[in-house]
Amino acid sequence: MHETIDTLLQEGRTFAPPADFAAAANVNDPAIYEQAAQDSVGFWEGWAKQLDWDQPWNQALDWSNPPFVKWFVGGKLNACFNCVDRHAAGERSGKTAILWEGEPGDIRRISYSELKDEVSRLANALKELGVGKGDRVCVYMPMVPELAFAMLACARIGAAHSVVFGGFSAESLFDRINDGQAKAVITADGGWRRGSVVPLKRAVDEAIQMGCPSIEKVLVLKRTGSEGLMTQGVPTPAYDQGKWVEGRDVRWEELVPRQSVECPCESMDAEDLLYILYTSGSTGKPKGIIHTTGGYLTGVMATTKWVFDLKEDDLFWCTADCGWVTGHSYVVYGPLACGASVMMYEGAPDMPDKDRFWRLIEAHKITILYTAPTAIRAFMKWGDEYPERCDMSSLRLLGSVGEPINPEAWIWYQQFIGKGRCPVVDTWWQTETGQIMITPLPGITHTKPGSATHSFPGIEAVVLNEEGVDLGAVRKPGQEVGGYLALTRPWPAMTRGIYNDPERFIKTYWSKFPGKYFPGDGTKMDGDGYFWLLGRVDDIMLVAGHNISTMEVESALVDHPAVAEAAVIGKKHDLKGQAISAFVLLRSTHQNRPGLIDELKAHVAHKIGAIARPDDIIIAAELPKTRSGKIMRRLLRDVAEGRALGDTTTLADSNVVNTLKDKYESMES
Ligand code: ATP
Ligand code: MG
Repeated sequence: MHETIDTLLQEGRTFAPPADFAAAANVNDPAIYEQAAQDSVGFWEGWAKQLDWDQPWNQALDWSNPPFVKWFVGGKLNACFNCVDRHAAGERSGKTAILWEGEPGDIRRISYSELKDEVSRLANALKELGVGKGDRVCVYMPMVPELAFAMLACARIGAAHSVVFGGFSAESLFDRINDGQAKAVITADGGWRRGSVVPLKRAVDEAIQMGCPSIEKVLVLKRTGSEGLMTQGVPTPAYDQGKWVEGRDVRWEELVPRQSVECPCESMDAEDLLYILYTSGSTGKPKGIIHTTGGYLTGVMATTKWVFDLKEDDLFWCTADCGWVTGHSYVVYGPLACGASVMMYEGAPDMPDKDRFWRLIEAHKITILYTAPTAIRAFMKWGDEYPERCDMSSLRLLGSVGEPINPEAWIWYQQFIGKGRCPVVDTWWQTETGQIMITPLPGITHTKPGSATHSFPGIEAVVLNEEGVDLGAVRKPGQEVGGYLALTRPWPAMTRGIYNDPERFIKTYWSKFPGKYFPGDGTKMDGDGYFWLLGRVDDIMLVAGHNISTMEVESALVDHPAVAEAAVIGKKHDLKGQAISAFVLLRSTHQNRPGLIDELKAHVAHKIGAIARPDDIIIAAELPKTRSGKIMRRLLRDVAEGRALGDTTTLADSNVVNTLKDKYESMES
């Protein structure tokens, strides 16, 4: 048996579920893993039955034409009905569906019955604009409640939405509109971000000017009404001015409020398109991932209830923007399908101060927080005093998603945010999987900091070597193994493919290990059978014959008290094949000093072995990240190897990488 990735990092701490938490948890019997494994289709059917169907399915799973799957064949339902109407019609009608706070501090509370009216009016407005079943609608908005209304209104009338993150440029918007052939755009004049207005309508104008022949209408919400305001020193055009195109552009306040609140839900086939969403683009050109209705809703509802232990009186805050899949599955569809109260926040975490998140938790008594390692590492960097100022005793569960979480960041989250009381769930999944795939169940799993632990019931994840051998199955008892992550069975929320590109779908995910889904990530499985995600296999370094994951070296660096965040890459080296270069961000309590770099190198060698000692370490002010906050190592490789930078369109801030490039080049010379 030969392993594909060496495993170096050892993390011995474990945390049992608190007894009172486990006793009251939605699921606390470990037998469910075995039951779901025995009959995974039946397991998912059990969840699907918790949705309201217009017509039941006649076949739960059709896997006769892999990798193209169908779930709940013959069934009919509407996603908006399941997320809104069925709650508005019952005991939850007055319950808060969305509690929203804008960056300037404005607050709105929308009950399920109000949500139904808002969504129905908007759905009728879309119909008046000529949008109907089978059309695509691009949504380019700030994180305001109307963004959720827009997604749900599309679902209501059977149009697919394609949400584009409001931080993307006109050019990215142009690509996504054309790829999806959207008929209309729903946008706003602007959104608030760190005290400035992000001029969204202006970007829509620019995108359409580049050539978007499919676009017939642009519906514009007035959010900032920004006459006279400045954006990065430039006066922001007032809402009513700019390039208003008569006949194409429509004012929300003129069209939507006068609509009827009666709008029947379109009865959709379980396999009808619900949305298209482009991946965040860490590795290259984003892919238009498609999700359908019945299976998707089943998968996100099940995982919301069990992973987050969602209860009737929770206030659930997933901090992701609806421009990402996390916002689709765990701000909108998952929690609303469960009838939950969802928190939404428009702005930046350091506005007006670095304690904004903790102030929101204190003020609104948020009970469940789901955020990303990039945010957690920023909080660590800013310092402990910010969370310490606030009363966060309402919190009872913490979640993480988006990147591997370094064990020290996990511990910080658990201690300073969860005060040691709250279970932490590190959830691995992707845009393509639609739903959480590898995760603890907080009433059952003994967690280990940095491990996403086990596959969700009904899901089977394995670790394979280059030849496709299942290392977990052939290893000696208790042996640790490292290799490629793969998923062996179809699951309900899995993508049905890449929009307009079935070939790329097969090639990217299904050709490396025939019959198995390959997500592109590496993983180790420890002696207890826990998964530890190691990042993308394209980032794995080959150092003197050893395959070393960037994640383990980064975690060893973050383990040092001076370090808040690290990005590690393999750089071409004549003798070793690759040498390790590290880019490191210090905590606000520490400064660079003579000897620190050698100390960090020694720390890595001590923590995980001399083989992983970085050749060079650069103290940086920022790291290049996607707009969703993921480190883009491929650009750091370009910097280190002196190449022209690859695709930077998904980069959040191009100055960051240019600064690093200058710094790197001045060091080399
Ligand atoms: P692209 O596919 O365009 O390169 P992307 O992969 O960054 O972009 P997403 O679908 O948003 O787009 O991200 C999914 C990826 O994020 C996963 O494949 C994995 O690499 C990483 N990831 C997400 N959650 C976790 C987690 N809990 N632990 C480790 N990695 C994670
Ligand atoms: Mg990806």
